[in-house]
Amino acid sequence: MKPDLASFHIQGKEVSGLLSQLAEGRLVHASLITGEKGTGKRTLAKLIASALLCSSGGDRPCGICRDCILAEQGEHPDVTVIRQGVPLAPDGKKDRTTIPVDDIREMIRICGSHTLEGKARVVLLFDAERMTAQAQNSLLKTLEEPPENTYIILVTGHPEALLTTVISRCRPIRLKAWPDEYVLNVLAEEGIRGKRAEERVEEAHGSIGRALELASDEEYWKTRAEVNSLFFRPAGTGRSDILRVSNSWKERKAEAGTLLNILETSLDRMAHCRYRGKGSSEEAGLPDNWKRFSEKAGPEDFTGLINAVSDARKQLESNVNFQAVLEQLLFVFMGEGNKW
Ligand SMILES: [Zn+2]
Repeated sequence: MKPDLASFHIQGKEVSGLLSQLAEGRLVHASLITGEKGTGKRTLAKLIASALLCSSGGDRPCGICRDCILAEQGEHPDVTVIRQGVPLAPDGKKDRTTIPVDDIREMIRICGSHTLEGKARVVLLFDAERMTAQAQNSLLKTLEEPPENTYIILVTGHPEALLTTVISRCRPIRLKAWPDEYVLNVLAEEGIRGKRAEERVEEAHGSIGRALELASDEEYWKTRAEVNSLFFRPAGTGRSDILRVSNSWKERKAEAGTLLNILETSLDRMAHCRYRGKGSSEEAGLPDNWKRFSEKAGPEDFTGLINAVSDARKQLESNVNFQAVLEQLLFVFMGEGNKW
């Protein structure tokens, strides 16, 4: 699936405003695209670059002319791409976790030279939050008074890491989670349909990138089925069952984060089903007691489990033994499951 600029209209007024300015040739010179992971920040930035450089003369970007293709690949001679770990300055080190001032200085130097193709110069500054404070400060003047026909597009999922002086000089564009129907369409175009698509969309929380990632991540779905069958056990589960389970998982500490995320998503889905009548508990393949739970449990029952998951997360962060945390969590779930 190749997203186009028009599909970004769904994002609302802010983005639509930007798109019409772009179409009318009066785009502001500095933009800051923010949003959660997978909301299309980089895609939008590259599409804007294509639109500025496209040579089709018609609806821009056409997506098929040489300028569009090169811009999309970040290979256009008039597009300068800055990102963490890919030094722009000739003598830059590759293993840096920050974007150093040298890269910004080099970018400013490039912007001061003539464009090669003459239409416009576009700077795509990905991972903008990785700029050092010195790098950010060195960017201020260019953001304020960029050379003619130069467009600087900052992209970050963490705008809080930027200096307010940088933020205030850019036009802000916040990308939101995409509507489920839209993400479903994207998956359908990839040949993923039906229940398989619906599950992935539910799990992706409006992130197209995450939905696509999940579509190809069979390992995750195996783990999800496994975790759900371990925690949502049939009534009558005893202590010895729990100890056996925790024992079989003790070497899998690396998967602790995934495990807790899966439990949260499952509880979320059950709560949805219980209180908004959305979806059906049967689909989750739950044993009878947990089906009854998801049909009849009160808010306090849900809260008890959700709190247990977040306590487990905190304990793991403070390095409490994984197996101990897991056992405690399994006991809480067993206690709840045996009530229904
Ligand atoms: Zn084009």
